[in-house]
Amino acid sequence: GGPRRCRRLEGEAARAVLANADTLLFDCDGVLWRGEAAVSGAAAVLGKLAAAGKRLCYVTNNSGRTRAAYTEKLRRLGFPPAEPRHIFSSAFCAARYLRQALPPGAAAYVLGSAALAAELEAVGIPHLGPGPAALPGPAPADWLQAPLEPAVRAVLVGFDEHFSYAKLCQALRYLLRGPDCLLVGTNRDHRLPLEGGAGIPGTGCLVKAVETAAQREAFIVGKPNRFMFDCVAAEFPVDPARTIMVGDRLDTDILMGNSCGLTTLLTLSGVTALDEVRGCQDSGCAARHSLVPDYYVDSLADLLPALGE
Ligand code: PLP
Ligand code: CA
Repeated sequence: GGPRRCRRLEGEAARAVLANADTLLFDCDGVLWRGEAAVSGAAAVLGKLAAAGKRLCYVTNNSGRTRAAYTEKLRRLGFPPAEPRHIFSSAFCAARYLRQALPPGAAAYVLGSAALAAELEAVGIPHLGPGPAALPGPAPADWLQAPLEPAVRAVLVGFDEHFSYAKLCQALRYLLRGPDCLLVGTNRDHRLPLEGGAGIPGTGCLVKAVETAAQREAFIVGKPNRFMFDCVAAEFPVDPARTIMVGDRLDTDILMGNSCGLTTLLTLSGVTALDEVRGCQDSGCAARHSLVPDYYVDSLADLLPALGE
């Protein structure tokens, strides 16, 4: 009933909300850490939640690391032990999507990292593309002579530090073979914020380039698409009414949580300021209301008192 109102999660309400949850889904960058530095107090909060028997899962749009690398990073930064099956990265979920969408033996042309390629290998999907493109000549006319791999039935676009015009040409050549060549993007994050107001272009820029060339819309695996939550629900028995999505971004984390019927908690330790939430809440616009979280905290550390400290 009615537009969502976002309240600070503290005191008795914090105890009640956490007691009602049996699963928490954590966005990573901006919530648990910023780059290589853990958010102060976050590891202690997750330790308490794990000790209280909560299931902790990690839901990240970053396609640049394998599940194994995430478990290692969590360990390194002092978080409670996680198994690879608790990690739902857009790289893993993209591999899972293609496993179900592609016929056996079909291959993917990948604009992305070695980690994305590794997740495809882990589910048995042959792939080509990661790394700098090997060019058959200096000009686009030469590139059109490069052989196409007949088994390719999907173009997968993730975070690719070696993205190039040559790769865009090759992706388009595969997509122009027909609609049975799928176009899949890991996520649409437009920018990755760095400290001090700096930022670098996100995977959304690369997905848009391929979509523009092909004049087709990609299937997006990552948040806010519910596919990522469906991956969690396929692995564990999760009840949306007893699940909290914790994130720092409204148009990915909070929107996915709200659309899947989860309780949503925004941390102000990442990319979003409270003013943006107020702007959405006070707008008369239903689409912006769906970006409003149920609760916010300045940082995960604010939950320590509710967990008995
Ligand atoms: N994509 C890339 C390539 C990133 O480096 C990051 C954050 O570091 C993200 C996406 C956003 O990740 P998350 O969903 O964990 O905030
Ligand atoms: Ca984030």
